[in-house]
Amino acid sequence: MLNYVKALEIRTNKERVEYVKKVLKEKGVQYESQPFRLRLLKGENIIVNQYCTPNSRNQFLITAHTNKYFTSPGANDNASGVSVLLKIAENLRAKNVSENAGIKIVFFDHEDGLAYLDGSTYFVKNVDLSKVSFVLNIDMVGTGSAVAISPRLAKKTDKYTAYLLNFLDRQKIRYLSFDLPPLISEDHVPFIKRVPAISLNLLPKSDMDYLVHWLRAPLLSQIKDWLLLRFNRKNHPMFTMQHRHNELDTSEFIQNESLCLCEKIIMDIVDYHIAQRTSFPKERPFHN
Ligand SMILES: [Zn+2]
Repeated sequence: MLNYVKALEIRTNKERVEYVKKVLKEKGVQYESQPFRLRLLKGENIIVNQYCTPNSRNQFLITAHTNKYFTSPGANDNASGVSVLLKIAENLRAKNVSENAGIKIVFFDHEDGLAYLDGSTYFVKNVDLSKVSFVLNIDMVGTGSAVAISPRLAKKTDKYTAYLLNFLDRQKIRYLSFDLPPLISEDHVPFIKRVPAISLNLLPKSDMDYLVHWLRAPLLSQIKDWLLLRFNRKNHPMFTMQHRHNELDTSEFIQNESLCLCEKIIMDIVDYHIAQRTSFPKERPFHN
């Protein structure tokens, strides 16, 4: 997966989309392209449809944005997420997962930069979501082993999120769910009014400690730190924020262990999803 990150970080946004399609083609994974024009930009979402038919019930969507922020190499944000999703597409093929599995992998174009969640917004407006059960969006998963989830979760969650939290507990993986601060958004947002949807990031332990501290801080100091993040990123106390949306977001700081951890988390939910489907009552055969 680290090789995918290295291949993506030297590419422009358009080239990143082409690279994803090239890898899928090489691995024999079927996809469809969803070109779009929204607001200022033209873009292209890529939808892996090999493991899902339009009629599949209880669909599980796994998503990540392909674009980078202006001239940043975008290794962690979000070549990391794209690399993990390419590996998941490959894993599903190796496992001979059928087209009735109801699993869709979607690569969104133009999450940020001159855009605002353009790819995911277009997708939500133009794809039938009535059969979707859960959306897991992956963003910045190339460093650390603590899990951040947004939005902040209620005590009672959908069954996929409940399963994920249970898995993290069993694996003794530290996690925190929180609402993103103003002006920061991720691709789960266009979905949340329609279907259960979360974004998942990985963070180093020290970033998680800071985040916990920040969330408990008085509003004024929260705002001060948030301004620091916007205008003086390199001095931000969080490692992942120092390396976000700037020239420091390179593969040099990406850890293969983090990418593998993210792969493991997703594959575990995939197995749960498949087990759920096989336990559904089968339709009775028709006799005449
Ligand atoms: Zn991102």
